[in-house]
Amino acid sequence: MTYVVTDNCIQCRHTSCVDICPVDAFHLGPNFIVINPEECVDCGLCLPECPEEAIQPENQLNDVNHHFIQLNAELAKRWPVILQRIEPLPEHEKWSRQPNKLALLQHGVDHGAAQPIFPS
Ligand code: SF4
Repeated sequence: MTYVVTDNCIQCRHTSCVDICPVDAFHLGPNFIVINPEECVDCGLCLPECPEEAIQPENQLNDVNHHFIQLNAELAKRWPVILQRIEPLPEHEKWSRQPNKLALLQHGVDHGAAQPIFPS
């Protein structure tokens, strides 16, 4: 089993899940973050870290979010690993808890991902 990042993350991308992951399973895209199912050890530590409640175990996904299993796996092969939390996206408050954001998902690589890192 794996944990999966779902629709609520799109356009918000807080990345507060990243620091706690023991196996560096998160990969960063332009306006979304995904979990690599080949790295995830199913510890569940990241789930309560997400303020958007975007992370769920794959066996508890509803029908709307079920396709995010495949999407996380595919995008994790394309996007770079993220090792430290970065700033959320600028309009995260506007997009928080908005439903059905999949059409806004940017599949490319985030070449501008070098935002300031939060002080630890
Ligand atoms: Fe990382 Fe654990 Fe979350 Fe999997 S469930 S992505 S191993 S923190």
